[in-house]
Amino acid sequence: MKLDITRGVQTKGIDVPFTLEETWGEDRWGGDTVRYVSPVRLSGTYMITGETVVINAQAQTVVESRCARCLAPALTEVSAPVSEAFVRETEGEEPAEEQYTYQGHVLDLTDAVRTSVLLEVPTRILCREDCKGLCDQCGANLNVTTCSCRKESLYRNPFQALAERMEEIIPTEDQEV
Ligand SMILES: [Zn+2]
Ligand SMILES: [Zn+2]
Repeated sequence: MKLDITRGVQTKGIDVPFTLEETWGEDRWGGDTVRYVSPVRLSGTYMITGETVVINAQAQTVVESRCARCLAPALTEVSAPVSEAFVRETEGEEPAEEQYTYQGHVLDLTDAVRTSVLLEVPTRILCREDCKGLCDQCGANLNVTTCSCRKESLYRNPFQALAERMEEIIPTEDQEV
């Protein structure tokens, strides 16, 4: 995702509007694969002051990853702010490690945009709020089918199941009535 700042060189110190759009493939994120199912669109302004270019923009796209419960593909709309400063690379000088740099009149915004977008992707995506997930006995997708596994297997929280079983085994004597 490249930004040509030739136009802004004539108007230093002034916000110059721009829009970029690019089709991306996929990324690894949080141990899972995130696919960009719509083009990544970046719109905002850049401003040149001295050797620094300041980007203030918003990135928009739709990503697909797996539902944390049922593993079905789940879509998430992402809108991420991208506010970064790019410093011109000077010959023979090593840029600071965390500093974005550019050469000539072209800035490569890809890393800055990718980082901003991925930070907005929830670590736990659900295909829908009330996704029933998979049966932990037979693996059936409980959103589309039912299975004949024992009801206890539906407990999401093993500690809850354990606590209830403990209550059955060890009845509490000083229970309030
Ligand atoms: Zn799901
Ligand atoms: Zn089952």
